[in-house]
Amino acid sequence: MLKKELLIGVDLGGTNVRAGAFTPGGELITANETPIDAALGPAAGLKTIEKLINQVILASGQEAAAIGIGSTGPIDRVRGLINNPYTLPGWDHVDILSPLRARYGVQVAFENDADAAALGEVWMGAGRGVSRVFMLTIGTGVGAAYIVDGAIYRGLYGEHPEGGHIPVDPLGPACYCGGNGCLESLISGPAIAERAVRLASEHSRGYLGGKLNDPQGIDAATVFAGARQGDADCLSLVHEVAATLARGLASIFMLLLPDRVLLTGGVTRSFDLFEPTFRSSLAKYNVIIPASRVDVRLAGLGQRAGIYGAARAAQQLLE
Ligand SMILES: [Zn+2]
Repeated sequence: MLKKELLIGVDLGGTNVRAGAFTPGGELITANETPIDAALGPAAGLKTIEKLINQVILASGQEAAAIGIGSTGPIDRVRGLINNPYTLPGWDHVDILSPLRARYGVQVAFENDADAAALGEVWMGAGRGVSRVFMLTIGTGVGAAYIVDGAIYRGLYGEHPEGGHIPVDPLGPACYCGGNGCLESLISGPAIAERAVRLASEHSRGYLGGKLNDPQGIDAATVFAGARQGDADCLSLVHEVAATLARGLASIFMLLLPDRVLLTGGVTRSFDLFEPTFRSSLAKYNVIIPASRVDVRLAGLGQRAGIYGAARAAQQLLE
């Protein structure tokens, strides 16, 4: 008889879906991924997800004990619905849990993808071994999650912390959340690119000025490449981003006093560039809280954090 202890973790994003099969000890047996065309609608999407789950179950040669889904938000965890007109257009009030429960006859966990990724890091990645882990994802947006003693912190109505919308500059750009100068509107990839384009048009010199013939092509990576070449405008932008990140994290430190902060997402691939300014800016806050004892480091599981965390969420349903 096949052992029925396999944990399946699924990470549903706007363009890709990943799935992995794990042992109860957190060992990844097999993983797979496939593009998802959200525009084809939820029914086609569900078929893609099922196909992927079937593949990893088959490849592992065991039976699933539980399934976890980490999904791009917004989601309604309590009712098990994806409410996502943004990254999954047309997926509004979509129930993917009931069909999966019926199809596989197991419990299905459902989490926001940021929460799932942080849970994965705490289970098998860079968040192991400490009690309070805060994770910040800096990419197209800025997302946050907080894991306390191995469990996802849940706020009112089960909502998770929106660390990207901590206001850090009241005079900063307007954000879609209704605020001004949120962390996300200052340090996300698109925010960095926008300020680079502005700098380029103001100065029309240096590394950025040289890219003005194609302003659409300027992104955060352009700024980091320029900084590596020693361009003054790019370096000043990098320092600004580093100081802003420190200011945002200071609020989080003051309130939550985490043991560890994990940074992940596309922008953090260039963390070495802004790390010195970031650490010296953060050290200023060491007077009333032990900021220097908070261990800030890069996350460890990369794009697989989501499937790890979804599998761990599935396992928690069985505990
Ligand atoms: Zn905001």
